[in-house]
Amino acid sequence: MSDVLSTTTDRVDELFGVDTFSKHVMQKRLPKEVYKSLLRTIDLGEPLDPRIADIVAATMKDWAVERGATHFTHWFQPLTGLTAEKHDSLVSPDGMGGVIYNFSGSDLTQSEPDASSFPSGGLRATFEARGYTAWDATSPAFLNRHGNTVTLCIPTAFVSWTGEALDTKIPLLRSMEALAKQAMRILRFFGTDAGVTRVVTTVGPEQEYFLVDRELFYRRPDLVTCERTLFGARPPKGQQLDDHYFGAIPARVLAFMADSEAEMFRVGVPVKTRHNEVAPGQFEIAPLFETSHIASDHQMVLMEILRRVAERHSLKALLHEKPFAGVNGSGKHNNWSIATDTGVNLLDPQNDTHTNMQFLVFLCAVIRSVDMHADLLRASIASAGNDHRLGANEAPPAIISIFLGDMLTDILNQVEQGLPRRTLKGGTIDLGARTLPELPRHSGDRNRTSPFAFTGNKFEFRAVGSTASIAWPNTILNTIVAESLDYLAGELERSAGANPSPAKLQAAVLGVLKTTLKEHKRVCFDGDNYAPEWHKEAARRGLPHLRDSVEAFPVLKAKKTIDLFKKYGVLTKAEVESRYHIAVEKYVKQLDIEAEMMITMTRTMILPAAIRHQTLLAAAITATEGAGVDCDDTVKSLEAFAGLVSAVRKTLAAVETAASHQDDDPLRHATHYRSKVRPAMAALREAADELETLVAADLWPMPTYRELLFLK
Ligand code: ADP
Ligand code: MG
Repeated sequence: MSDVLSTTTDRVDELFGVDTFSKHVMQKRLPKEVYKSLLRTIDLGEPLDPRIADIVAATMKDWAVERGATHFTHWFQPLTGLTAEKHDSLVSPDGMGGVIYNFSGSDLTQSEPDASSFPSGGLRATFEARGYTAWDATSPAFLNRHGNTVTLCIPTAFVSWTGEALDTKIPLLRSMEALAKQAMRILRFFGTDAGVTRVVTTVGPEQEYFLVDRELFYRRPDLVTCERTLFGARPPKGQQLDDHYFGAIPARVLAFMADSEAEMFRVGVPVKTRHNEVAPGQFEIAPLFETSHIASDHQMVLMEILRRVAERHSLKALLHEKPFAGVNGSGKHNNWSIATDTGVNLLDPQNDTHTNMQFLVFLCAVIRSVDMHADLLRASIASAGNDHRLGANEAPPAIISIFLGDMLTDILNQVEQGLPRRTLKGGTIDLGARTLPELPRHSGDRNRTSPFAFTGNKFEFRAVGSTASIAWPNTILNTIVAESLDYLAGELERSAGANPSPAKLQAAVLGVLKTTLKEHKRVCFDGDNYAPEWHKEAARRGLPHLRDSVEAFPVLKAKKTIDLFKKYGVLTKAEVESRYHIAVEKYVKQLDIEAEMMITMTRTMILPAAIRHQTLLAAAITATEGAGVDCDDTVKSLEAFAGLVSAVRKTLAAVETAASHQDDDPLRHATHYRSKVRPAMAALREAADELETLVAADLWPMPTYRELLFLK
């Protein structure tokens, strides 16, 4: 296997994981005892034995150096929502004028980046700089190939000197442990825990993104600075014809996809699916599901690779939730389930679902948790970018509800009546042509409008934004479900008593489920989530409707949230509050940058172009009249044009005034941006977009939607 990139014609089974310090590599290279000890940490979640660090480090270094690595880095996920890396050379002087490769156990397990330059939401002041990264042995190390460099990346967790989590990984790991502990109680209750040492959550995220031509991208300051267009008139053809979704993938895009996938395969990201998405220029990539924290690490790697490889193909990958107004935005569908280490998917309803009491308990735990914490789930995906998408009739509404489908709805209705006696079957579909196979039909249709849908053997949380790290929404999802499993386990244990007979056990389960459903089934809704009637119905049911991020942020620091995280050991009060502060601050900063960018573009690009156009019109009038030809029409259009230019100036002034407002209170500041700055920006955009439709094409100072959205 060669180390050159673009090995897209290599066999995937030979390419997969070649740049991953995988179990295969460890098994082959580590002493048996060391390998076994490491496996106990990776697979069983046991504490890492510090005595093995030196041997693992030496082995990892040899492997990396053989594959061309010159540097190593502790790779971590600070609260910027991105990844961070600081490279150190793998060599040190040998004292004889040469160098030797050197990488010790302590290099592997701990490092000390400056914690004060990352957002901490008040956890760390600038003068309190100390922070540590700690090796996460459960996530495989990998080689990052970029240009002419190869860097050994060691996944790590990031904590402050005082022990607070400064990253997205630690809370995710803690939430997985919290859920595992409560899920085991349910398994023990049903006596299905034999052989199970661990329960994990699994995630398969589907990533949507846009591709634009790199050269056009750099001619759009708004794309360069904000990753979204702040101006742009609708093109004559957008997505009206529905001709892009699942269409033939353009050759240039396919070449990019194949190259990206080859890189992902090398570092062990199991990408599975690729296709055109709904909007022109929009695409999707989806890996197979993995254990949550690995899926989350891989998701960060995937986004980096998309961005990096796009450059090589003279493209730019836009991961923003709404790069273009008027066409669909991008999300990240978060497929989520719970599984045992013996390979049982605990959200798999099996064939005769009505008899599968254990499944029904897990299902009701999810229903209860989403109902109790719909506001927190909503807040987990709040961001300035996602505000353009949620509730905009292309993405789920901001009201969080659950889609269950006919089969489960029917069974839960039966549970409410007593003992469920049947499972609806889908039957088969006859295609009417004898040469075509008969298709098994699912017992219910899909629902594309639901924010939280049961899709056969997992839930799909569809409201996550396309740029977001999935760690945070999954931390929240795991924690709220842990709480409901805890509650249900307690109720079941109490009402069944010790050593219950099968009949008593069944009665206890049905009783607990019935009460739970009565209280929480209001969150279930199988209809059209886009319909205005649903908004009314949801209000009647008392479901929270947090329309935008500013309404959602305060949930992050509500007492109920703080108590929940504290109870399950996922986040301390200070850690929760820091995340709230960071979210609000980021919202304000993003909108501030967008407003500034709009002002600059209007002043230095749009108005000058408009003035040139206006001058041409005026010159045409003078010349035409000078030639003795009547040109009233041109005079009228000049008047109208000048009026529009004034409108741009006026709306520009309004944005300038609104954006100059300061407020010491971050949430009040965010509220101002939401209520005053955003509407002012929308008005400026409307006026400027109209100018775009009038100004001579050769004078318009930036590529238009028509050019950006349709890749050549
Ligand atoms: P669908 O029929 O809903 O499209 P797929 O099996 O094709 O289902 O999976 C869609 C997505 O769901 C994929 O990204 C996949 O990785 C993910 N997925 C499938 N099973 C699970 C699971 N048990 N846990 C988490 N994600 C899953
Ligand atoms: Mg999708």
